[in-house]
Amino acid sequence: MKIRLLILVFTITKIAMAQTYKEVKGGLLPERACFDVGYYDLHLTINPDEKTIKGHNVITFKVVKATKKIQIDLFKNLDIDSVVFENKKLSYERKFDAFFVDFPFELELNKNYSVAVYYGGKPRTNIGVRSTDGFHWKTYNKLPLVGIACQIVGASVWYPCKEYLGDEPDSVRLHWTVPVQLQCISNGKLEKVENSPISGYKTSHWVVRNPINSYNITVYLGDYQKVSGAYINSSGRHSMEYYFLKKTDKSSKDAEKEKFYVQMGLSFVAFCEKTFGEYAFWNDKLAVVETVYDGMEHQSCVAVGSLRENPMGYVYANDVNLHGTLIHELAHEWWGNAVSSSDMGDMWLHEGFATYTEYLFIEQMYGKQTYEAEISKMYENAVSGLGGNVYKTQTDKVLAPRNVYSNYVFGMQGQIYWAGAHFLHALRKEINNDTVFFDILRTFYERYKKKTVLTENFLQIVNEKTNKDWTQYFKNGLE
Ligand SMILES: [Zn+2]
Repeated sequence: MKIRLLILVFTITKIAMAQTYKEVKGGLLPERACFDVGYYDLHLTINPDEKTIKGHNVITFKVVKATKKIQIDLFKNLDIDSVVFENKKLSYERKFDAFFVDFPFELELNKNYSVAVYYGGKPRTNIGVRSTDGFHWKTYNKLPLVGIACQIVGASVWYPCKEYLGDEPDSVRLHWTVPVQLQCISNGKLEKVENSPISGYKTSHWVVRNPINSYNITVYLGDYQKVSGAYINSSGRHSMEYYFLKKTDKSSKDAEKEKFYVQMGLSFVAFCEKTFGEYAFWNDKLAVVETVYDGMEHQSCVAVGSLRENPMGYVYANDVNLHGTLIHELAHEWWGNAVSSSDMGDMWLHEGFATYTEYLFIEQMYGKQTYEAEISKMYENAVSGLGGNVYKTQTDKVLAPRNVYSNYVFGMQGQIYWAGAHFLHALRKEINNDTVFFDILRTFYERYKKKTVLTENFLQIVNEKTNKDWTQYFKNGLE
């Protein structure tokens, strides 16, 4: 018995030793698979002068397999002060950018538990394959301008969480303690603002009442001016908020541009609702926030870089008067935020779909001919950028291996964006029936909004709606 136990311990240790960084970060190890995150209650003090953060996250989860150990993710450069469970400090072991928490007894199946992680430090900045992830500490109008993006490096670059795309918390509360002179914008609804015991600071409390990707949780601090646009659909009257960086010397041209972007956003949202289905997060809100980084689909408060300084975003011909980043990030509210991939290997479901939605909007605004011309231009630019070879290596494929951290899919060649979008364009041509094609997109959205999916879920709908097996077509186009 003793010998057998020793062998077992040895085998388990060997398996544990064999785990790589990519498996721990992107995979579903037993310590991650054993629990389902329900709720985050994140409290954070942000100090722009020192460029530091300090706070705690209370993680509430349901046990789906009895366990004594769970994995939580947090970058190793951030200090963990303590991990508290039922008023007692727990022991934990740090490994790569994760830590494994030991509980004093076995957590029971189907029971809910909460664990609080107290932490702090200087979060990393300008990291990842695009170099835009991490904290952004800037100055604007002589005041701090702070933002965070972390799609590729992951949310554990700044707060402790379960960094697995397939498990989103069902709701979140966010409490930001920040200098009083800064506006604070975050996901969901603002509940209240209170004075903080820290001199010169206030605490702003927000609630998100929908499932949310860990990388979509964010906060913006700065000198902002809010502009609202009224939006009416069949479910009622809604407001779409814009937070522009405040201009002390605002010209009439700047004001015109703001109006133009507000109108463009409203038209685009109306287009997406008509084409795919109603925006899934009206009970939180819908906002666009001007930022120092290019853009990010932060749920219910998407980031768009420099609305006035870089007015046309990217990619389109001069006569297509659209802000590419603005509509791309808003498209993610449907593709990425509502319908979310459960694995980084399938991130084309976010990026390819959001990119293709830009072109569908071009088609609605400028007609079929412009749509065809713009799609061809996107394809040619991308192919010539790759030296004429669409797929040069295994890592250029649209679908990447699952259960490992596949950050390279976001690399400069951007297959998940342009080849993903082009795949949808080609699929539409092949189906050769727009009623069926748009029914597929709408069904995919309606069936899977607020859920996580894989490419097979989309393939299944394509098969179902066309009465044909497209497995090989998907393989040829994506793998
Ligand atoms: Zn995107």
